[in-house]
Amino acid sequence: MPTSQPLPKVVVPPYDKNNVFARILRGEMPFEWVYGNQYVMAFRDIAPVAKVHVLVVPRGAYVNYHDFIENAPANEQLGFWKAVDHVARELGLAENGWRMVANTGKDAGQVVPHFHIHILGGEPLGPMDN
Ligand code: IMP
Repeated sequence: MPTSQPLPKVVVPPYDKNNVFARILRGEMPFEWVYGNQYVMAFRDIAPVAKVHVLVVPRGAYVNYHDFIENAPANEQLGFWKAVDHVARELGLAENGWRMVANTGKDAGQVVPHFHIHILGGEPLGPMDN
């Protein structure tokens, strides 16, 4: 595909202030804390699919990856990605490797409409099925 074509416009659905991660960020829901700073919170996934399964979420209100990249200030984006690196290393995953997943939209089965990264590891993960 030629790279000179204009990209399709990002259409972001309205942010739902009552999604589960917004509630966790506001301290309205219990969660298993892993890491936090001014940009992110990281906590254990409630239904882990790997030995280590941690979610990293930005503190800002972004629906999905495209919303985050289009609308988050550069310092928030850098802070977020550096925190993902920090968490993976702090959890001891860097040596043997790990997987980063960002489900985006309905075809990916994104359930929680607040941008987040899954950190998966702590064991051999096998190939991605699809
Ligand atoms: P996704 O939106 O498909 O990327 O996945 C959302 C993830 O959030 C799933 O892996 C859920 O197990 C996880 N999840 C949903 N509610 C909670 C919660 O209250 N605490 C921690 N993880 C949660």
